[in-house]
Amino acid sequence: MSDGFDYQRQRMVEGLRAAGVTDERVLAAMAEVPRHLFVPRAMRHQAYLEDVSITIGEGQTISQPLIVALMTQAAAVGPSSRVLEVGTGSGYQAAILATLCQFVFTVERIGTLAREAKRRLDALGFENFSVKVMDGTLGWRAQAPFEAIIVTAAAPEVPEPLVDQLAEGGRLVVPVGERRLQELVVVQRRGKHTRRERIRGACFVPLIGRHGWEGEGR
Ligand code: SAM
Repeated sequence: MSDGFDYQRQRMVEGLRAAGVTDERVLAAMAEVPRHLFVPRAMRHQAYLEDVSITIGEGQTISQPLIVALMTQAAAVGPSSRVLEVGTGSGYQAAILATLCQFVFTVERIGTLAREAKRRLDALGFENFSVKVMDGTLGWRAQAPFEAIIVTAAAPEVPEPLVDQLAEGGRLVVPVGERRLQELVVVQRRGKHTRRERIRGACFVPLIGRHGWEGEGR
């Protein structure tokens, strides 16, 4: 049934394809999840612009659809993957992952955002996710290892606990660099070694925590 945004969503997917997103499963998930329900009501008209991030309160943002698509594609998840997301925010990235994977563990440091994201994901009928309020730079050790970890806030360095919690062959997708300008990188675990690959430049809000930035000025 139409939710009134089918046309915009389809246009967004075409834009993602034109911008170089090639993974058909990722594109199908983004054609399915109603992104307008993850942004403030007054911003719904911008929900499907592929290169626009939107403020969601608490000084935080929902990332641009293009970044969500590129990060999800880089994580290379499959139907049997167990995945960790650090930085739940609105819950949109978690919804995309929950559409593609077996189970999504998602952590957020701001309680109000975590609760609101859980409410949205519940309302949409997702059952294969768990949200926790905590410092995600520590990972979620009790649930590790993960086939993929996506960090949706910018770290000064790749957080070591997250590398430790990757399954063999698992992929960590994380923006790394300065507080406001970073490189999006994929770190893949290969035995005792890791391989690091750059995807593109990025501009995320800071990852605040023990293995991230210090707390002032979210
Ligand atoms: N993935 C989100 C979405 O789909 O809406 C967007 C996330 S927003 C760009 C980054 C989020 O990371 C913010 O909600 C912020 O509070 C959260 N964050 C920052 N540092 C964190 C940490 N150490 N642990 C967990 N969440 C953190």
